[in-house]
Amino acid sequence: MKKNDQIIIKIEDIGVNGEGIGKVEGYTLFVKDALIGDTVEAVITKAKKNYGYAKMLRVLEASPYRVERKCPVARQCGGCQIQELSYDAQLDFKTKKVYGNLERIGGFSPEFLDTVMEPICGMEEPFYYRNKAQFPIGTDKEGNIVTGFYAGRTHQIIPNMECALGVPVNQKILQIIVDFMNQYGVSAYNEETARGLVRHVLIRYGFTTKEIMVCLVINGDNLPKSEKLVDKLVRIEGMTSITYSVNKENTNVIMGKEIGVLWGQGYITDYIGDVKYQISPLSFFQVNPVQTEKLYSLALEYAGLKGDETVWDLYCGIGTISLFLAQKAKKVYGVEIVPQAIDDARNNAQINGIENAQFFVGKAEEVLPEYYARYEKEHGEKAYADVIVVDPPRKGCDETLLDTMVEMRPERIVYVSCDSATLARDLKYLCERGYEIQKVKPVDQFPHTVHVEVIIKMQLVEKGEK
Ligand code: SAH
Repeated sequence: MKKNDQIIIKIEDIGVNGEGIGKVEGYTLFVKDALIGDTVEAVITKAKKNYGYAKMLRVLEASPYRVERKCPVARQCGGCQIQELSYDAQLDFKTKKVYGNLERIGGFSPEFLDTVMEPICGMEEPFYYRNKAQFPIGTDKEGNIVTGFYAGRTHQIIPNMECALGVPVNQKILQIIVDFMNQYGVSAYNEETARGLVRHVLIRYGFTTKEIMVCLVINGDNLPKSEKLVDKLVRIEGMTSITYSVNKENTNVIMGKEIGVLWGQGYITDYIGDVKYQISPLSFFQVNPVQTEKLYSLALEYAGLKGDETVWDLYCGIGTISLFLAQKAKKVYGVEIVPQAIDDARNNAQINGIENAQFFVGKAEEVLPEYYARYEKEHGEKAYADVIVVDPPRKGCDETLLDTMVEMRPERIVYVSCDSATLARDLKYLCERGYEIQKVKPVDQFPHTVHVEVIIKMQLVEKGEK
């Protein structure tokens, strides 16, 4: 196989970026835009020794799972990867991905996995689910102000205000901003020259409270004629917070460090379950609140709390899981590396009147082992935890952390994961040290993307010392 060869290929899997994967005479090819189940004609764009890349020319036999895409720019935009795959087939693909990683990397047998795998938790309405959107502002070739999305892995703006994953009100807000910029000659930022004012628009929407936040990221100290913009934006029902963030750095980081209020308050409020959260433009907050509530309810169920337990929530972010669990536990300790997130966590604990949650800033793999060692020194006995929850980033948990967890021997471990490959590695490690998997449940937090979250319940089976 070599570059420019034309081939016919049947697509059998989906790659990490949503591309189709198939084989021709044993040679693996990654085919952009081809879907699982398709037979396509494609041309090879890059040929390596054991695998290559190809571009789809036409679909010869369409996959039975192919559906009409909702968004006309779904292919160019980097946001969705598998919108043309039916939602049922997406869920099926995600389940198999988790299953495959647990089998291949975790070494768990299919017979065992069949007994612990729960059906994936999908969405009833898998569109318009995101509560946060960040739109770049720029100009097209004619110099008109445009907004939309960066085309996959580039910084070219595909004009589009109607994202099918975001809330419909985004479009109205963007139109007001673009009209305002045109009317008052407010310039858009140009990444190449680092000139121009408006860089990005951040919009957040509280699904429960219906509160709306708009934040303009600007390359300057103020937004001229901002009162004219505010006049228009406040007419939108639910508008609660209009702010700007100054970012004069020539970087890919979207937000600046400081926030200035143009109108209203500097944050919006929203709920997950009964817990209230204040969300500022810089706060991290889960983007799919409907699925997040389901995920945290599962975390609560898997933690099996009765009211007198001590719980650790590692990688706690703004304390979302911690506060959810604190309602049912005696004490919850949260650990998170980002100091601002811990400020939010403490604030959120306070506005909810939650007094049994304590937060630490630091690396989970340092804070927990240090706490454990110090506790033994000071109290002459081992620190105890009934339940440990972990929700690490993609790279999974550090071995030092897993070792301390195993030493503490909590009855249950709840593992929330956004990468089933590192999850499988960590589960294997824990299962070799006295734990058993009782439940595996994938949760679809990001429909139309290739990402999948999984939540695991583990139980301590070997009670004695290691
Ligand atoms: N549980 C939270 C956030 C999970 S995202 C929620 O549901 O909202 C993972 C979090 O781990 C991020 O907030 C990230 O900042 C944090 N993090 C990354 N590496 C870490 C480490 N070594 N120790 C502690 N926290 C870490």
